[in-house]
Amino acid sequence: QAKRAGGNTLCFFNTDMQTSVLERASLEADLHKALERNELALHYQVQVDHQGVTTGVEALLRWYHPQRGWVSPATFIPLAEENRLIVPIGYWVLRSACEQLAKWSHQATYATLSISVNVSSVQFQQPDFVHDVEALLAETLAPPSRLVLEVTESLLMCEPVRVRNTMLKLRARGIRFALDDFGTGYSSLSYLKRLPLDELKIDQSFIRELLTDKTDAAIVDTTILLAVSLGLTVVAEGVEKKEQLDWLRGHGCYRYQGYLFGRPTPIEYLFESY
Ligand code: C2E
Ligand code: MG
Ligand code: MG
Ligand code: MG
Repeated sequence: QAKRAGGNTLCFFNTDMQTSVLERASLEADLHKALERNELALHYQVQVDHQGVTTGVEALLRWYHPQRGWVSPATFIPLAEENRLIVPIGYWVLRSACEQLAKWSHQATYATLSISVNVSSVQFQQPDFVHDVEALLAETLAPPSRLVLEVTESLLMCEPVRVRNTMLKLRARGIRFALDDFGTGYSSLSYLKRLPLDELKIDQSFIRELLTDKTDAAIVDTTILLAVSLGLTVVAEGVEKKEQLDWLRGHGCYRYQGYLFGRPTPIEYLFESY
């Protein structure tokens, strides 16, 4: 089936593609309503140190769709970035995380925990991003030193001076920055010099076959050395096995996140075993 899509452009599609376009459109329409309908939730996944002590959590967005059930962020975040819904959604995520930090700040057991929040490059580039974050901190009374913003290498496709300035302003408030999914982007290593980072997260794709794939092991080893020599905290993502943990610990990585320690969990069940 071929259709004329205006001008000289011929647009071909088959039934499968048509369904997925419709499917996308309907998902997108539903996402518009998700915020006001209270369908979004944050789950939290612990990060632990080499002694097994929980140092913080990462906030991970979940969407409970009334018909589809749980929709993966891998599906709806890219959609939300395209139509910029990620801006209000990301704001909601930040607000929820700040409210949680403020609650914890009054409880001795939890007061030292940090919350890491994923920030989309689209959201980060909003002219009022710094203002919004500062307003949220002021309103919620969350301790800024417990907030970690996770950015990705895709930020480096944006205007570097502006990105750096935005980070410096937030960092002056005590907020920390983590580079997420390290090694999966396209950018050069020079940004490690340019950007004021505190933490580097090794992507789970390198951890998965760490014990059997020599290339992955070499990449992880080198990344740890690089991070340590730059004075960055290095966090391994996707740690599922004790053997991976032992390898990482033996190679100088002392922060971990993964199913071995806990899955992303609603806040009320997070520390159940404590
Ligand atoms: P990410 O920030 O790299 O988050 C880590 C992902 O790895 C999460 O997937 C988590 O559930 C998963 N994970 C953790 N431990 C393990 C493990 O041991 N094994 C395996 N196989 N997976 C593990 P999730 O929750 O599906 O999120 C996917 C991505 O969606 C995130 O990757 C992040 O890029 C994005 N995302 C999630 N929440 C938000 C948000 O609030 N805002 C934005 N902008 N992006 C978000
Ligand atoms: Mg992340
Ligand atoms: Mg990651
Ligand atoms: Mg990821």
